[in-house]
Amino acid sequence: MRVQVTQFGLRRTVLVTGGAGFLGSHLCERLIDAGHDVLCADNFYTGTRENIAHLLGNPRFELIRHDVTFPLYVEVDEIYNLACPASPIHYGVDPVQTTKTSVHGAINMLGLAKRVGAKILQASTSEVYGDPDVHPQREDYWGNVNPIGPRSCYDEGKRCAETLFFDYWRQYRLRIKVARIFNTYGPRMHPNDGRVVSNFIVQALRGDPITLFGDGSQTRSFCYVSDLIGGLVRLMDSPDDFTGPVNLGNPVEMTVAALARRIVDLTGSSSVIEFRPLPENDPRQRQPDISLARERLDWSPAVGLEQGLVATIAYFEELLSGRRT
Ligand code: NAD
Ligand code: UDP
Repeated sequence: MRVQVTQFGLRRTVLVTGGAGFLGSHLCERLIDAGHDVLCADNFYTGTRENIAHLLGNPRFELIRHDVTFPLYVEVDEIYNLACPASPIHYGVDPVQTTKTSVHGAINMLGLAKRVGAKILQASTSEVYGDPDVHPQREDYWGNVNPIGPRSCYDEGKRCAETLFFDYWRQYRLRIKVARIFNTYGPRMHPNDGRVVSNFIVQALRGDPITLFGDGSQTRSFCYVSDLIGGLVRLMDSPDDFTGPVNLGNPVEMTVAALARRIVDLTGSSSVIEFRPLPENDPRQRQPDISLARERLDWSPAVGLEQGLVATIAYFEELLSGRRT
């Protein structure tokens, strides 16, 4: 057992896979601030060294280049398994590797958790609900997912990872936590990430056309990164009998067209909106029911869309102007 009591409370050694990515880098930072030792494992498929450059000199932070489709032998108390490309553009480039990352990655990280007796959290996704015919989505809804489409490598990979987590819990009594994350945005999204918030902001700042897919009437609910990270940490710290799955996201739903208009307004951009074909199997609507997170984690988002967009726009302005590397 590596847990030590310090002036910060309980100090633990925590593995974050995908720790150099958008969410992972914010999580590493939050865990270090809470006084824990953090081991970040990443193969830099979509993550970058820049995201964690500010942590590299910290004695509590350690970085290992590692692909989770291969076993990892380390001694840790907790594992946050975030490794997986999250943008449809990126996970579609090498769909076989995407499924392997979710499935083999889950098997390897669950095996590690079993060997060292660690608690393990899976970053699952609203995509397990597919194109939902129940609205808003609650955790007891089983979803409407195409098993053979272009998004299936991600959706079914994440569904299989959830299956593995619950089988390890039933079979080995492993301490598991499953978070179903809904669309989250904020600083450190990659400028070429391809997801809607970063795409629209970068296009607006450059004065390029805003690429609106379909007629823009599809909906999403956008959560700011600091809120989401708070939810993940609360879930990890929740009593062992609470496994989830639990939805984490902001229930304020809007159309993608309304998002485009909001970003054009906030950036003062002269960009025009350009309609593009809707990608295959693009979910029509999505909104989390977060009653369970409110009840069991005492968690709900605090950052409104405007506040979150302003902070994200400021980040991209600095990045595009070259003031930030
Ligand atoms: P991201 O692409 O920025 O980060 C993913 C990280 O995983 C990157 O650093 C990447 O290099 C790393 N990675 C990918 N394959 C790997 C492998 N085989 N081995 C080791 N590292 C690997 O995406 P994100 O938005 O930070 O998402 C993090 C996690 O949260 C993902 O599992 C994603 O599915 C989940 N999630 C995110 C959102 C969201 O809106 N951001 C929504 C639902 C679920
Ligand atoms: N989208 C868009 N223009 C873009 C990128 C995305 O209109 O440049 C749409 C996309 O079709 C989807 C929504 O925005 O309906 C959210 O897309 P994203 O890739 O961010 O996430 P996901 O589809 O996985 O929720």
